[in-house]
Amino acid sequence: MAEVRMPEVDRAAAGRAAIAARRARAAVKDAVHRRERRAIDVAETAWSDPATPEGTLRVRELLMSIPGMGPTRVARVMDELGIADAKRVGGLGARQRERLRAWLQAREGARTRSRLVVLAGPTAVGKGTVSAYIRENYPEVLLSVSATTRPPRPGEVDGRHYYFVDDETFDRMIEQGEFLEYATVHNASRYGTPRPPIEAALKTGRSVLLEIDLQGARAVKKAMPEALLVFLLPPTWEELVRRLTGRGTESPAEQARRLETAKVELAAQDEFDVKIVNHDVGRAAQEVVELLTVPGTPSARTRS
Ligand code: 5GP
Repeated sequence: MAEVRMPEVDRAAAGRAAIAARRARAAVKDAVHRRERRAIDVAETAWSDPATPEGTLRVRELLMSIPGMGPTRVARVMDELGIADAKRVGGLGARQRERLRAWLQAREGARTRSRLVVLAGPTAVGKGTVSAYIRENYPEVLLSVSATTRPPRPGEVDGRHYYFVDDETFDRMIEQGEFLEYATVHNASRYGTPRPPIEAALKTGRSVLLEIDLQGARAVKKAMPEALLVFLLPPTWEELVRRLTGRGTESPAEQARRLETAKVELAAQDEFDVKIVNHDVGRAAQEVVELLTVPGTPSARTRS
């Protein structure tokens, strides 16, 4: 059979149309990602007219554009909903539409119940690296900036890493009830979590992450029982020892002291709602962000 060839000019027009359609789909995803449109509204548009950019968008791409959704969770959700990877939103069958609609509605409901997540874990497990990664890659999450009486380290910026304050200011902040919790850490400086920015963020539906020490995590749970406590674990005890002693900058006595502290800290893990193993910074960060937006209260479990 002779091959049917598209005339040159039609092919150019089709190419232009394909580019325009891709751009239109990218704009839809962007709007969802920036929370300007709700994923459920995109889906309804797709179902009223499958030929729209919304209709030709793949379900996977729609789910990926929802803030806080990463590839692991998207794959799990699609599997649960019985939707094949390449499916377009407008091409879903009636049952699949119903399941996706129910899932998106439940999620929208959950979004208004924004979350406060406290990330804690033993010294040297990589809490700071995971929260720095979240600060860079997930701007929709408010990373609480603590006040501290310790002096800044090279590269630390006031107002970004900490609010560096003197003892007098810290005392005044305590008196005025400005802290959600505060503590003396490592028997040295004082650290406190400012309450007003957290309350303001939660009120507007923004999720908040606190990276604080164990006593701080316990205090937050007392003050706000709805907070979710997440414990970051090392892949193995040997790996934690390597991370603790690897830098070789501490004396053997200091190393031994840190290992003892780490043992005590690890013993607290069962007080936490969720445990995440820090195999890889990007993955651990993504799991934390997913917890900030996932509906329902997860029972204690280990994610590895
Ligand atoms: P660093 O001085 O190395 O930045 O932090 C020392 C420790 O203080 C870390 O374990 C960190 O999680 C903890 N920390 C930082 N901010 C706060 C806070 O606001 N409250 C409490 N309780 N601990 C904090």
